[in-house]
Order: sequence, then C-alpha cells, then structure tokens
Amino acid sequence: MDIHERFAAISARIKTACEAAHRDPQSVTLIAVSKVQSDERIAAALALGQRVFGENRVQEAQAHWAAHRPFYKDLRLHLIGPLQSNKAADAIALFDVIETLDRPKLAATLSQLAKAGLRLPQLLVQVNTGEESQKSGVLPQDLGEFLHLCTHEHGLSIAGLMCIPPVDDPPALHFALLAKLAKRHNLTRLSMGMSDDFEAAIPFGATHVRIGSALFGARA
Ligand SMILES: *Cc1c(COP(=O)(O)O)cnc(C)c1O
Repeated sequence: MDIHERFAAISARIKTACEAAHRDPQSVTLIAVSKVQSDERIAAALALGQRVFGENRVQEAQAHWAAHRPFYKDLRLHLIGPLQSNKAADAIALFDVIETLDRPKLAATLSQLAKAGLRLPQLLVQVNTGEESQKSGVLPQDLGEFLHLCTHEHGLSIAGLMCIPPVDDPPALHFALLAKLAKRHNLTRLSMGMSDDFEAAIPFGATHVRIGSALFGARA
C-alpha cells in the first residue's frame, strides 16, 4: 500500500469503529505520528490534507517541522514523548499540545514559563496505567494529587489524559481505566490507541488516536 491508501484505510477503520460505538467520527482526531519518518513521507501526508502530527522528541520535531510550519497555519503538533525540563521552553515554542506532563518538576517549569509571559500549549497528563517501572507517567493512585498540584499550585490548565498500555496486557483494561480517571476529574480529552489497538480505544471514548506505522509504514 502507498501512503494515500494507508491513510484512506485507517480513516475508514476509525469511521467503522466510531459507528460501532455510536460515536461521531468527527469526535476522534487522528494524530499521525511522524517520528523517525522521512521528510518525503511527511510531505506526502501534508499533501493528503493531514494536519495533526505527533512527535516524540523536541529536536527531531524541530527538524521535521520548522520548514513546514510557516506554510500550514492549521498545523497541530503534539508532543507524545517524554519532556526534559531543560527542553520545556523549546517544546512550548513548537508544540500545540504536550501530552506527556508527568511529574511535579515539569509542572513547575511550565508554570514558570507561563508566568514569564509565554503561551503554554494545551496540556495532557500521561498516566502510567500499567504501573510499569520503566515507563513514565503519573501512577493512577497519584493522579488526583498531581492534578491538584498542577491546577491549584501552578495555575496550569489540564485538558485531558494520555496513556500507553503495557505491551502484554489487553489494552481495553487500560483504556477503560484512563476513561474512568478522566471522568472522575472532569477532563474531556483522552489520547489513547496506537496502530495495533486504536479500534479498542474508540469504544472507551478516545478523542485522539496516535497512529504511526500503520499510516507511514514501518519506522527505519
Ligand atoms: C511511536 C508512538 C506512537 C505510534 O506508534 P505506532 O505503533 O507506530 O502507531 C503512539 N504513541 C506514542 C507515545 C509513541 O511513542
């Protein structure tokens, strides 16, 4: 399949999953994960009309997007990889959404940048739903306290939650948990579901699915 066919196939699968879940397909935003992809593939996705992209690393994202950004006013870039505090200023200059707010130090840094007059992107908190030691994200039992710190102490506005389920677990358990946590805390955005499991995330209310290899082909 070429990239055009891949995008058409994924869009059709999102639509089918939405219909099965009695959801409006417009309520699910496709984030095309362009990390490690060539500029040729990125340009092809832009030519197809795709405008929402996800990147894992600040520097790589700058390299991918600095040249395109001025020509696509409606481009929306999501940071979906871990953010070091010392890259926070670069990240907020480039990204429209940071999905990986995951610790007090980063919340404090973002708050300082906002107080210095910088515009913050929309923020999602990453939740480590599988409680995996090697994975970043706030533990489910710590989420309430962390959200309180972000909003009350740092004045940050949190729009939603994001998770990456453990590879060996049924993903639906994690999507259900993330949806429950979002509901409990009145958060409306749910970034969950990747190439192999996005159809399982849609019935649980995913508002954003992050799809890389199924759209662009395997990463080098
Ligand atoms: C790489 C990545 C994706 C996309 O993964 P695919 O399996 O290629 O769809 C989604 N979310 C995050 C956080 C990622 O790092």
